[in-house]
Amino acid sequence: MSVSVHPALPEMTGNYLFQQIGKQAVDWEAAHPGERMISFGIGDVTQPLAPVVAEALRIAAAEMATHRHRRGYGPAAGYDFLRQAIANEYAGYDEIISPEEITVTHGAKEAISDILTLFDPRTPVWICDPGYPAYREIAQSAGFSVHSIPRTEENNFLPLPGDISEPGIVFLCSPDNPTGAAFSLAAWQAWVDFARENGSILIADAAYAAYLAEDALPRSVFAASGARECAIEIGSFSKSDGFTGLRCGWIVLPEGLRASGVALAPCWRRRLACRSNGVGYPVQRAAEAALSPTGKRQGAAALSVYRRCSELLSRHFIEANISFWGGKNAPYLWAKCPSGTDSEILARRLLEERGVVVTPGEGFGALGRGYLRIAAFAGEKDTAEAIRRMSGIL
Ligand code: PLP
Repeated sequence: MSVSVHPALPEMTGNYLFQQIGKQAVDWEAAHPGERMISFGIGDVTQPLAPVVAEALRIAAAEMATHRHRRGYGPAAGYDFLRQAIANEYAGYDEIISPEEITVTHGAKEAISDILTLFDPRTPVWICDPGYPAYREIAQSAGFSVHSIPRTEENNFLPLPGDISEPGIVFLCSPDNPTGAAFSLAAWQAWVDFARENGSILIADAAYAAYLAEDALPRSVFAASGARECAIEIGSFSKSDGFTGLRCGWIVLPEGLRASGVALAPCWRRRLACRSNGVGYPVQRAAEAALSPTGKRQGAAALSVYRRCSELLSRHFIEANISFWGGKNAPYLWAKCPSGTDSEILARRLLEERGVVVTPGEGFGALGRGYLRIAAFAGEKDTAEAIRRMSGIL
C-alpha cells in the first residue's frame, strides 16, 4: 500500500474561516494604499500583556539562562505551581477540582484537538450551530461525524439538550463565541443532568469566562452538581490575559470520569506521557502571574477596554434599531442583518465601501446566515470611528 493522506482531509474544502477573513483584509489594504482598515473580524485581543506577566516572563527567561536555575523538559501535565493556581480558580464551586486533575496546554484550540484523541472516532460529536468553527473542523479532521445543535433566536441562542438524539461528545461554549450568550446555572444543570443520564460527555469551553459581567452566571460547568461525572472543561489565558501570542490554556479532566465504563484520567496520563513534553517554563510562570492578585487587577484593566467597546457598539445598534445579542458577558455582538439582507453581502459591503471588517454569521454554521459577528477588540477610538463609518449600512 502506498502512503495516503488521512481520508477526512481531502473532503475538507476551502480555508479555515479566519484565514479567509484575514486574506480579504490583506487584499483590501493592498487595494487601498494609505487608508486604514478597522477590524471587528478576528477575535484577537489587542491590549498588551499585563506588566506583572511580562515581568514574570523576563525573570523566568533569565533563570533559564543560568546553570543553576535552567529547566529542561517539564512535567507533561504542567508545573505544580500553575496547576495549583488554576485549581484555586475553581474553589467555591459545587464540584471540587484538584491540581492533579488539571493539564496545562498550549492553548484552548490545541486542548480541543488533544482531548478528542481520547475518544473513539465512531462517537458522535455534537456542536452548536452557530458555534466556534474549530470544533467542527477539528472533529471532522480526526474522523468524527459531527451533528448540529441549533442555537436560534427561539432558544435565545442558549440551547437545551432536547436536540441530542444519541449520546456523544457535546461541545458547549459559555460565554459563547459567536453569539455572546451565557448559560445560567439552571441551564448548565440541565445539560449535566442530561449527560449523566444518557452517557454523553460534555466538553465545556470556558475561554471567555473572564468576560462574564453578571455575577449570577457561573464561570464553569463545575458549578453544576454532578458535573465531575460527565464533563471536561477547557480554559484559556488567551482572551482573559492577552496570551493569544504566548499560548497557554488548560484542561480539567476529573478523576473518575468514565466513558463506557473506562476511566479516562489514566488513559489521558498515558497519552500525555507519550505525546507531550509540556508547555514552556517561562509561559507557565507568566500564566501563574496572570492569576496573582496583581495580575488579575492589571488584566481587568484590559478587559474593561473591550467592555467599553462592547458598550459603544451596543449603544449604536440600539440607536440604529438593529437587533443584536451578546456584548454583555462576552466580547462578541451577534447582530441581525437589517431587513433580511444577506450576511455575506453585507460583510463584503462593509469592507469594500467602509473599510470595516465583520464576520458573516454563516462562517459559524448554516444557522448563522442572516447575522454578523462583531468582535469588540478594536479599542475605543477605532470602535467609535468604525461606528461612524458603518452608518447607513449597519
Ligand atoms: N475557544 C473559543 C470559543 C474561541 O473563540 C477560541 C479562540 O478564538 C479558542 C477556544 C482558542 O483559544 P486559544 O487561543 O486558547 O487557543
